[in-house]
Amino acid sequence: MDRILVSACLIGRPVRYNGTAKGSASSGILAQWQSEGRLIAVCPEVAAGFPTPRPPAEIRSADGRDLDGADALAGAARVVDDTGEDVTALFVKGAQDTAEIARRHGCRHAVLTDGSPSCGSTFIYDGTFSGVRKPGIGATVAALQAVGVRVWPETAISDLDALLRG
Ligand code: SF4
Repeated sequence: MDRILVSACLIGRPVRYNGTAKGSASSGILAQWQSEGRLIAVCPEVAAGFPTPRPPAEIRSADGRDLDGADALAGAARVVDDTGEDVTALFVKGAQDTAEIARRHGCRHAVLTDGSPSCGSTFIYDGTFSGVRKPGIGATVAALQAVGVRVWPETAISDLDALLRG
């Protein structure tokens, strides 16, 4: 049976920066997977040592280049919080620790909360803290993809369910 890595906030844990959980329109599928013992829940940011709540953070682009989590992992982009503090090191630690958890549990798929500078897989925010989205991935998604884990946003849970049962 395939084990699936999942963002802890998607299964009701209040670990987001603002101390809330993240609802999912496909929570019935998540509940089914949980009852089947498939889910490995992790919050990369809490695992790295961030408190909850914590200031929101975004990946900053620089030198006219449009950067994302892959660049943060490579040391070419910084992750900063809305007070201006550089929190790159903890984001990289959370990404690497989560990839190790996926490896240890044999996860080939992950369902992660889109938009996050850690967990975003189709979009992130543009680093200006003005609510502007851009295409890109978070640091944890980059680390997972680097070790062969396929990452799905929460909006694609039913597609992954169909694939697993197909
Ligand atoms: S880092 Fe990921 S799991 Fe943790 S709160 Fe943010 S989106 Fe959810």
